[in-house]
Amino acid sequence: MARMANLYDVSKCTACRGCMVACKDWNKLPAVIKPFKGNYSTHEDVDPDTYTIVKFIEHEDALEDIQWNFLKYQCMHCSDPVCKKVCPSDAFFITEWGAVIKDSQKCVSCRYCEYSCPFMVPKYSGREDMVTKCTYCYDRVENGATPACSRTCPTGALTFGERHKLLVQAEERVKYLRANGYPNATIYGRHELGGLNKLYVLTDTPDKFDLPVNPTVSGTVGFWQDIVQPYFGWLMPLALAGSAVSFVTTRLLQNKSGDHGEGGHE
Ligand code: SF4
Ligand code: SF4
Ligand code: SF4
Repeated sequence: MARMANLYDVSKCTACRGCMVACKDWNKLPAVIKPFKGNYSTHEDVDPDTYTIVKFIEHEDALEDIQWNFLKYQCMHCSDPVCKKVCPSDAFFITEWGAVIKDSQKCVSCRYCEYSCPFMVPKYSGREDMVTKCTYCYDRVENGATPACSRTCPTGALTFGERHKLLVQAEERVKYLRANGYPNATIYGRHELGGLNKLYVLTDTPDKFDLPVNPTVSGTVGFWQDIVQPYFGWLMPLALAGSAVSFVTTRLLQNKSGDHGEGGHE
C-alpha cells in the first residue's frame, strides 16, 4: 500500500464540525460539555475524549477588522514520530501506509510521548488509564474505507489518498489561492519534521493558524531514546523497588512519630 495522507484545505472548511462528531462516533468517545471560554471553539485543545477539534482562531485584520481562521487539528502522523522514539515500552508502531498507532496493550501511562510531541497531541485518559490520540481510523483504512472525518466532510475540505498525489493537488490549490487574494497561501506538512501524513493547504502563514512555523524536537529526546529506552526493562523494576522502600520507610517513620505524638498527649 502506498504512503497515504489526509489533505485538509482550510479554504474549503466551513467549521461545521462534522469531522469532530464523526470521529467521536467511530471511536465511541463520549461527548463532554466544556465551559464557554469567550470564543467559538468548543474545545481549546484535543483531549482524551476528543481526538480531533476545529479551532476558531481570530486575528485582527487591517482591512476586515477581525479575520477568522478555522483549523482542523489532530495527531499529524509524522513520518519520523518523536512519540515512538521516546516511548520506553515500544508502544507505537507505524503502518506501511504511514499511520502512527499506539498499542494500548503496551502503553504504561508514563506520558513521555505527551511531553515530547512537538504538537502536544497525546493526552492521558484517567478513564482508560492510558494515553490516547487520533488513530487515523486505522481499523477503517485497513479494511478499505477512508477515515471517518474525511468520509463525513460535506465540503470536500478533507481528502484521503496517496500522499504524493495529494501534494500535487495541494500545489495546484495553493497556486490558485495565491492568484485569488491569498498571497501567503502555503502547504504545511510536506517538509515539517521530515514530512507529516496530515497535510494542510493554508490561506496564510502557519502562525495565523496556531501551527508551529518550524516544529522542532526537544533536545532531551536523545536522552530518552539512548539512555532510558534501552534500560527500561531493569530501570522500571528498580524504580518500583525504590518506591516500595520509600513507602515502607515513610510508614515506619510515621508510626514512630505517631508513638511519640500519643506519648506527648498523655
Ligand atoms: S467536516 Fe469538513 S467542513 Fe466541516 S469542520 Fe470538518 S473539515 Fe471543516
Ligand atoms: S504529532 Fe505527536 S503524537 Fe502524532 S505522530 Fe507526531 S509526535 Fe506522534
Ligand atoms: S482519522 Fe479517525 S481518529 Fe483521526 S481525527 Fe479522523 S476520524 Fe478521528
